[in-house]
Amino acid sequence: MFRIISDSQYANVLKTCFLLFIMFFSHNIIRPSQKELLSTVQNALKDKQNVLVHAPTGLGKTAAVLSPAIEFALKKDITIFFLTSRQTQHKIVHETANLLKQKNNVNFICTSIIGKKNMCLQKNVATLFSSDFFEYCKKLVENNSCMYHTNTKRKNNIVAEKVLSDLENLNIVSSKDIISHSLKESLCPYEVSLMLAEKSKIIICDYSYIFL
Ligand code: SF4
Repeated sequence: MFRIISDSQYANVLKTCFLLFIMFFSHNIIRPSQKELLSTVQNALKDKQNVLVHAPTGLGKTAAVLSPAIEFALKKDITIFFLTSRQTQHKIVHETANLLKQKNNVNFICTSIIGKKNMCLQKNVATLFSSDFFEYCKKLVENNSCMYHTNTKRKNNIVAEKVLSDLENLNIVSSKDIISHSLKESLCPYEVSLMLAEKSKIIICDYSYIFL
């Protein structure tokens, strides 16, 4: 079906196509509300200002915020902390980061860090209260009784380097991937996630981590 459009509409279409061609963005189409948010974030980053956004579900906030942030972080060689209140929110960040990599032909690592207890490979820790778990883990580490920790912290650790390199080669590195790769080599997944975070451009974690 054909539709006749005015010269000004045609100019707008051309402008949008051109902007999408040059713009660092995760999707092929950008909605007007996303474009506005994206520009706001871009300006805030440039001017070192804070931005507080209240926007409805489905607007595409993650893409509109992460796209300018990662473009800025790559240029300035800095790391983004993407803080969430729930682990389920990590998935959309990973997916958006992956789209950004593919569409813009750039490479960077995006890692999730979740609670130590949720990553621990020791048996029966799920039944412990968090405070008891931290004491338990601390004691094991102090006494060199956690083989996963000892294996991970070994000097010139070729096994840990290999696991890190395998994880780096995945497009999306979820906490499940970190646990399964660490389990294969009997490494502590939490320590591995911290090692991977050091190499990452985006670190997704709980709000509370920013105060640690
Ligand atoms: S060091 Fe890692 S594997 Fe060992 S008890 Fe602590 S969290 Fe668990």
